[in-house]
Amino acid sequence: MTGPIVIVGGGLAGAKAAETLRDAGFDGPIVLIGEETERPYERPPLSKGYLLGADPREQAFVHDEDFYAAHDIELRLGVRVTMLDPAAHTVTLDGVSTLRYDKLLLATGARVRTLRVPGADLTGVHYLRTLPEADELRQGIRAGARVVVIGAGWIGLETAAAARQLGAEVTVIEVDALPLRRVLGDEVARIYAELHRDHGVDLRFSSGVRRIKGDGAVEAVVLEDDIEVPADLVVVGIGVTPATELADVAGLTVDNGVVTDAQLRTSDPDIYACGDVANSFNTLLGRRIRVEHWGNALSGGPLAARAILGQEVVYDQPPYFYSDQYDLGMEYAGYVEPGGYDQVVFRGDPATRQFLAFWVRDGRVLAGMNANIWEVNDAIQELVRAGYRGRSVDLAKLADPDVPLTELLT
Ligand code: NAP
Repeated sequence: MTGPIVIVGGGLAGAKAAETLRDAGFDGPIVLIGEETERPYERPPLSKGYLLGADPREQAFVHDEDFYAAHDIELRLGVRVTMLDPAAHTVTLDGVSTLRYDKLLLATGARVRTLRVPGADLTGVHYLRTLPEADELRQGIRAGARVVVIGAGWIGLETAAAARQLGAEVTVIEVDALPLRRVLGDEVARIYAELHRDHGVDLRFSSGVRRIKGDGAVEAVVLEDDIEVPADLVVVGIGVTPATELADVAGLTVDNGVVTDAQLRTSDPDIYACGDVANSFNTLLGRRIRVEHWGNALSGGPLAARAILGQEVVYDQPPYFYSDQYDLGMEYAGYVEPGGYDQVVFRGDPATRQFLAFWVRDGRVLAGMNANIWEVNDAIQELVRAGYRGRSVDLAKLADPDVPLTELLT
């Protein structure tokens, strides 16, 4: 193939795809198009070290500034792809010019779900998805400020932790009865609730937001039971939706994201999709899955690049992510739906916040998490792979810190 290969989406997935195309020896034209004006950056620092002021801005970028030119990758920033025409093999840029592609990669990511209540547009209501949004939040969160976080998902909890560490008073409002329950289940969700309570966060669960009150700028968040929570700043983290508009108009198969096979190929043979926007068949899990985490962009971009070049690759990795909140760092690998496990097996005492947790069904490990214990996630991933392939493990040994994880499969 001679190209051009066009990558729509200048985030981590798109940037890693471009890098891999060159690494794998493709020497034709590569165009990487990003709607934002910043060059590709990673999002995890935005709600962790960067928000805290601990990590420099430069550290968030995927590549050095000169990387793209040095690798002859045409990086077009601040450009919106407005149309995709699979029959003509073209994309339209900003509604005016067209660009031809040989193969196209959709790495358009996801957009924040917006809060639809009166007052949601007041000054002081923030979202956290982009680097400029993180810059704004950094300015607003300061010691003594009253910060109200809406949504106890990853963005909400990581932001709450950063705000507490910066000395703000923090209230978290969540519709569900516990934080992160859909991903972690009740047992581990409770640990996160305790963690935040221990750090002085006011957690309001089973609470919806009726409106945000203020005269120009936010003054309070009004809950559904009419209780008012005073606020100087509000952070909304109520999830994201996949950016599928181009795929929609192009007539690609879309179902909770752009549907792909295990080679990340969409319903059009010359168009691939990866990262948050892709709902891809994962051969390990035996089903399609749309994963919104960093690890999926990091590995999905390279996988799509290799597939585009005709290499034999397959999407078979267990989902992976990590989170840092206060002094609790964790990694998680695997996948379990709500109700998809019959027990959580702990290794170590969760009260010490140094433990492993395994989500188990019929003796098979479907997901595992290491909290403040390091260098074990590869072994956890092996257990998850084995579990998904039907292998069960001895649960007493799984809970026993004296039995190395690697011995559970021997
Ligand atoms: P999220 O993790 O999906 O959490 C959103 C939370 O908001 C859920 O608990 C959701 O409850 C709740 N919610 C939904 N509508 C609400 C409403 N109207 N009022 C109050 N709560 C509401 O999404 P996120 O925290 O916004 O993060 C955005 C994306 O970035 C996610 O894909 C996330 O995985 C990713 N991210 C990952 C990390 C990490 O891996 N460490 C860090 C930051 C962000 P229900 O579950 O009941 O809908």
